[in-house]
Amino acid sequence: MSRSSSVIVVHGGAFDIPREERDAHRDGCHEAMEAGWTVLAAGGSALDAVEGALRLMEDSGIFGAGRGSSLNEDGTVELDAGIMDGTDLAVGSVAAVQGVPHPVTLARRVLESEFAVVVGHGAARFAERTGVERCDSAELISDRERRRWEERRSQPDPDWAVTMFGARGGGDTVGAVALDFRGNVAAATSTGGAPFKPSGRVGDSPLIGAGLYADNATGAVSTTGHGERIIPVVLAKTAADMMSALHPQAAVERALATLGRVDGLGGLIAVDRHGRVGVAWNTPTMAFALRSSDEASGRVERSGPA
Ligand code: ASP
Repeated sequence: MSRSSSVIVVHGGAFDIPREERDAHRDGCHEAMEAGWTVLAAGGSALDAVEGALRLMEDSGIFGAGRGSSLNEDGTVELDAGIMDGTDLAVGSVAAVQGVPHPVTLARRVLESEFAVVVGHGAARFAERTGVERCDSAELISDRERRRWEERRSQPDPDWAVTMFGARGGGDTVGAVALDFRGNVAAATSTGGAPFKPSGRVGDSPLIGAGLYADNATGAVSTTGHGERIIPVVLAKTAADMMSALHPQAAVERALATLGRVDGLGGLIAVDRHGRVGVAWNTPTMAFALRSSDEASGRVERSGPA
């Protein structure tokens, strides 16, 4: 079925984005949104659009995904990503993977396989087997993150969870949701996780239902924020379910309120099957960008932090 409207929304993480980094985060989201939009405008799938948008963000060095991600306590970049196709509920996730610059594409290969989740060394081997680009782990480390890691290491009592989620509210995880002209939705989320996390720690981002969800019957959602709090409220699926009865803006706001139960900070983006959009966060800022083409409302563009 051909539709008259198509939508892409991307986020670059919900946290207290330092003032001097806000323009870069906004521009980075905008560029990724445009990349996804180009796919949709050419008649491409929502799945290709969200993967394309996130690949750009994973390469940018601006966000905490792919190149330039924060380092774990061992000083290594360890990545998580998930992707979901609302057409057939196909899912793919990778976690704690090293030496893969585009974990979202690796997650896509998992989605296309008979598996749902592949982690650690096995995920790196899976990349090799399926022809997904690999690199030396050190190539993913930026000078900025190396410096931050050195500073953290010299602190007497490094507690990654308090520093990361207490003071900052979250990190610059990236995510995208899209609706294509065929009426299919997709979602993807990619992250380096929290700075100084213990090796092997996995947050919400690659977890289907927590970090992302997509179902043509309702819509698509990508989340960001304190993973250990987002997981128990299954934030993405909660919002997606609410979209069966509510406008996506109401759905994301109500879903975000469930984080109150666990004292959680974060944010989320959503698009429903009609192409309506929701964006909400309870952190000081969240970087995002969206574009929608709609017969009734014409072209809509919006971006933040606002
Ligand atoms: N949700 C991510 C995690 O807990 C962090 C973030 O969104 O920045 O790993």
